[in-house]
Amino acid sequence: MSNTVTNLRNTMQSSPTTTANSSDDVIVALRTVTKSYPLGKTVVHAVRGVSLEIRRGEFSAIAGPSGSGKTTLLNMIGCVDVSTTGDIIVAGQRTNELTDKALTQLRLFKVGFIFQTFNLVPVLTAYQNVEFPLLLQKQHTKAERDAKVRSLMDEVGLSDRLQNRPGELSGGQRQRVAVARALVTEPAIVLADEPTANLDTETGNNIIDLMKRINSQRGTTFIFSTHDPKVIRRADRVVWLEDGKIAETPESLLMGH
Ligand code: ADP
Ligand code: MG
Repeated sequence: MSNTVTNLRNTMQSSPTTTANSSDDVIVALRTVTKSYPLGKTVVHAVRGVSLEIRRGEFSAIAGPSGSGKTTLLNMIGCVDVSTTGDIIVAGQRTNELTDKALTQLRLFKVGFIFQTFNLVPVLTAYQNVEFPLLLQKQHTKAERDAKVRSLMDEVGLSDRLQNRPGELSGGQRQRVAVARALVTEPAIVLADEPTANLDTETGNNIIDLMKRINSQRGTTFIFSTHDPKVIRRADRVVWLEDGKIAETPESLLMGH
């Protein structure tokens, strides 16, 4: 099956919240994107010509074996890395043309990040970790920040853990704090790189449930990566990567779709 057909099928599988079809609804677009890393005297071709459109409100998985380019792709979508060639458009902005300052603003206001290893600041409390991106935004009063942090911590079920530091929380609780931190700025897009990989199956499922609930309640676009078949099946749409290219999703992984 060609990629076009695969993409069409994937689009048809996308969530019921994704009803509009106009190009205005495309929140992330990649056009023949490549990424190569110099490595000694050789070059690693991590991403080799990926074209992809993600619509507002989708709950998509970038899936594929280890080394297939998932992290590289998410880092470029999240503007923490730049493509070698090809265009990446995020929330209507052509990222290749932006200054470092503009890229930082785009990241800060449009994108939320969730990581495999949670990446919380260990010396800060859960409350302070969630407040952190709001401080960077420099847009809100202390009272506004307080209301946002408490509301998000409530939403992820951790109202009673505001003053705990990450070291005093379980893995699942830490990832919930990370979800709250990613969402507190009300980003258009949340990127989650293997968000369940360091959690047991049940805890990982609860994190996906939480992300899915926020996706349907707020319409936030989620793009998460995973190599776990159980997690892949929770996505409304699967983009399967192999050797830095989009390939047909293995049939066995589409069961349940
Ligand atoms: P995945 O997240 O799917 O496991 P990655 O995007 O991390 O894959 O990596 C894709 C390929 O790019 C791998 O071969 C990896 O070794 C290589 N790679 C990733 N980052 C770098 C880097 N900074 N320097 C050199 N090679 C890299
Ligand atoms: Mg990775």
